[in-house]
Amino acid sequence: MTTAAIIGGGIGGLATAALLTRQGWEVEVFERAPSLPTTGTALGMWPEAMAVLEQVGAADAVRRIGIDQRIAEIRSAGGHRLGPEIRAKGATVLISRPRLLEALAACAPGVRFGDRRADLSGLDHDVIVGADGIGSIARAHVVGHDVAPRPLGVDVLIGRCPGETDTFTEYWGPGRLFGVTPRDGGCINWYSEFDPRAVPAGTPDPDTDPRGFLRAMYRGWDPRVTRTIEGVEVETALHYRSRDLPRLPRIVRGNVALIGDAAHAMAPNLGRGACETLLDAAALADALGAAAAFGGDAGPALRAYESARRRAGQRTMLLSRAMRHTALTSRLRTPRDLLLRAVAAVA
Ligand SMILES: Cc1cc2nc3c(=O)[nH]c(=O)nc-3n(C[C@H](O)[C@H](O)[C@H](O)COP(=O)(O)OP(=O)(O)OC[C@H]3O[C@@H](n4cnc5c(N)ncnc54)[C@H](O)[C@@H]3O)c2cc1C
Repeated sequence: MTTAAIIGGGIGGLATAALLTRQGWEVEVFERAPSLPTTGTALGMWPEAMAVLEQVGAADAVRRIGIDQRIAEIRSAGGHRLGPEIRAKGATVLISRPRLLEALAACAPGVRFGDRRADLSGLDHDVIVGADGIGSIARAHVVGHDVAPRPLGVDVLIGRCPGETDTFTEYWGPGRLFGVTPRDGGCINWYSEFDPRAVPAGTPDPDTDPRGFLRAMYRGWDPRVTRTIEGVEVETALHYRSRDLPRLPRIVRGNVALIGDAAHAMAPNLGRGACETLLDAAALADALGAAAAFGGDAGPALRAYESARRRAGQRTMLLSRAMRHTALTSRLRTPRDLLLRAVAAVA
C-alpha cells in the first residue's frame, strides 16, 4: 500500500488527506489539537480555492454555509473609496475557519487528534507532508536548519459581531486599519490591524477591554466603523502579533514536502494564505498521482510540486507584505494605486 503521513490537520493537511485518499493512498493525519477548533475568523475562498474544494468534495458544503462576496473595496478612514473596486472573476465565498475545517474533515480519513509530533522520527511512510503551520517542525528537516517566523511589527485584533454584509471593506488610516467582511451564521467579521508603536498612551488594553481600545483607536472614523465597534462581541475578540516567513530556498527534501503556512506563512492583508494552502494541496496530490501509478520514489514527483508552488507561494507572501506596508504607512497615491491594481489582477 502506498502511504503518506501528514503532520497537521489544518486546512492544508485535511485537503491533502482527502485528495490523496481519493487517489487510493493510505493516509495518516497527526494533529496536536484534541479536536477541530470551535472558534476562528472568516476566511475568503477565492475562485481558484473553490476549484480545489470541488476536487476535495467540500465545495457544496462551503457554498451552502458560506456567504458570497463579489466586491472588495478599500476606503479612507473617513469613508472615501481609494483605488479601484476589486471584483473577483468568480464568486469568493467567506466562511469561518471552524465551518471550513468541518467541511474538509468530512471528506478526509480519520484524524489522530491529540497526537503532537516532536519530529519526523518513526515515520516510515512513502511520503511525509509538513502541513503543520507557521511553527512547523518539518521545516527544519527540509531546509536543514531552523527558520524562525519574522514579526511584522503589527498587531491584529479580530472578532465578530451580529450583522450582514456581502461586501469586503477595509478602511485605511495612518498606523491602523479596520476591516469588515461577510461571515456565516448571521454575523460579520471585523478586524483591526495596528502598529503598536502608534497606540497613544492611555489607550485601553486590547486584551482586557477590546471595545474601549477600538473606540479610542477609531474615534472619528467612518460611522460604519464606529457602529461596528459598538456591536463587537467582546468575548470573541482575539489579539495576536502578525508574522510571516522569509523566502525558503527549498520546500522539499527527499520524501518530505512542506505545504501552506509551513512553507510560506504570510501577512493576512491579502486574505490569501488559506487559498495558497489549498493550491499547494492540489498541486502536491496532482504531482504524486494515483497510488497505483506511484513508482515508489517520491523524489521526481515532489520536485515537480516544488517547481509548481515554491515561487508562486512566495510571490503572494511578498505581495501580502507590501499590502500591509502600504495600508499602514503609505500616503503616496501612485504606489498605493499600483499595488491595488496588482491585487485586482490576481483576484
Ligand atoms: C486573522 C487571519 C485572517 C486570515 N484570513 C484569511 C482569508 O481571508 N483567506 C485566506 O485564504 N487566508 C486567510 N488567512 C490565512 C490562513 O488562515 C492560513 O494561511 C491557513 O490557515 C494555513 O493553513 P495550514 O493548514 O498551512 O496551517 P494551519 O491552519 O496553521 O494548520 C496547521 C495545523 O497543524 C497542527 N500542528 C502544528 N504543529 C503540529 C505538530 N507538531 N504535530 C501535530 N500537529 C501540529 C496545528 O494544530 C494546526 O491544526 C488568515 C490568517 C489570519 C491569522
